[in-house]
Amino acid sequence: MSLKSKLSRKKSNELFKQASELMPGGVNSPVRAFKSIDGQPIFIKRAKGAYLWDEDHNKYIDFVGSWGPMILGHADEDIESNLRQAISNGTSFGAPSAIENEMAAEVIKLVPSIEMVRMVNSGTEAVMGAIRLARAYTTIKFNEKKNKIVKFTGCYHGHMDALLVQAGSGVATLGMPDSAGVTKEATANTLVIPFNNREVVEEVFKNHGDKISALITEPIIGNSGCIQPEPGFLEFLREITTAHNSLLIFDEVMTGFRVALGGAQERFAVMPDITTLGKVIGGGLPVGAYGASKEIMSMVAPAGPMYQAGTLSGNPLAMTAGLTCLKKIQKPGFYDELENKSKYLMEGFKQVAKLPEGIELQTTYAGGMFGFFFTKAPIKNYEDAKANLDTELFKNVYVKMLEQGVYLAPSAFEAGFVSSSHSYDDLDYVIDSFRNAQ
Ligand code: PMP
Repeated sequence: MSLKSKLSRKKSNELFKQASELMPGGVNSPVRAFKSIDGQPIFIKRAKGAYLWDEDHNKYIDFVGSWGPMILGHADEDIESNLRQAISNGTSFGAPSAIENEMAAEVIKLVPSIEMVRMVNSGTEAVMGAIRLARAYTTIKFNEKKNKIVKFTGCYHGHMDALLVQAGSGVATLGMPDSAGVTKEATANTLVIPFNNREVVEEVFKNHGDKISALITEPIIGNSGCIQPEPGFLEFLREITTAHNSLLIFDEVMTGFRVALGGAQERFAVMPDITTLGKVIGGGLPVGAYGASKEIMSMVAPAGPMYQAGTLSGNPLAMTAGLTCLKKIQKPGFYDELENKSKYLMEGFKQVAKLPEGIELQTTYAGGMFGFFFTKAPIKNYEDAKANLDTELFKNVYVKMLEQGVYLAPSAFEAGFVSSSHSYDDLDYVIDSFRNAQ
């Protein structure tokens, strides 16, 4: 099926045809494939500030922001000039460099629960390290039965085997319960339960508490649309994990440096034991990180017995882009400004929504992250989203907004991102295009 777009998509379509012979599904990551829209992704040629230009010279206002990293907008001038300088000193050493100290110090300063940090290359890697660390710490400190991990449906924690069950993001978009190739053994110690449901959490800890090494959650789910924790839910998770000698892991790959300078843990004042980071921390280059107290991080090799390593971890270019980004987001008022824009956009959508009988627009935002649902009932977790979202309506509105030059995440199960480069004129245009799309 091809989109009847006013925009020319000739070159994009040609490139996609070619790509489909070269790469599985024509893409290097599934969510890019526009599967839940029209299966014809747009090929981007260049990006600057809040805008993207595609291969057919169409211009878009971008709310994907490379799925989160571009909090300053695209091609930030400071990141660009610092990268140019760094590149002439060599692109990778595989030996310690001073900028790694600077980066670690900055992360420790900004993220309240982190006293020590390990840099990696992606969010997936960060989560892999965090899970192994939680198991290492709790089995050594408490008992060797502590092998189980609790995760919530609709949270996406990257593509490590043990967590690729009822995951959000591309897995939800493609309607896959889990992934082929993941063995039963790999997920045998993963307990999957619904978000925002205290009774089920209580039950799972009552039945398995002595075996649970960690509960991992996105503190605000950004991979099933955008779903906020109910008041007190994160505090409750903190208490119940502590009571069972289990660790609480906040996967802040998306929310970190996005919903507040110190992430969701600062916003909700709930401190996890381990935090994973990604996206914004790399300023657009491949970076991830996990961090915790000194006591927990001392388990990580070579300080301790838990092995984890990386050829390109702490790469000087990645550290340069990430550190420049982390410095810039500390500008006073940066997050108030971002949140005001997210709020303005979502309130604007609400004001102009003219939806069919029985469908409501549910909106939410936090810092530079937002989400809107066309729904028959309130969405508190992935189960609600699956049962109540009008994905056909989403698709229709999506296509009409795309035709007007608005680039949203091509799935009803993804959050949107505002950057400091978006202007109120941009937002007014987008609200108008949302009105026209109905
Ligand atoms: N955790 C969360 C919360 C994420 O949103 C993502 C990516 N969307 C990941 C982990 C995996 O990160 P990456 O794609 O960098 O491996």
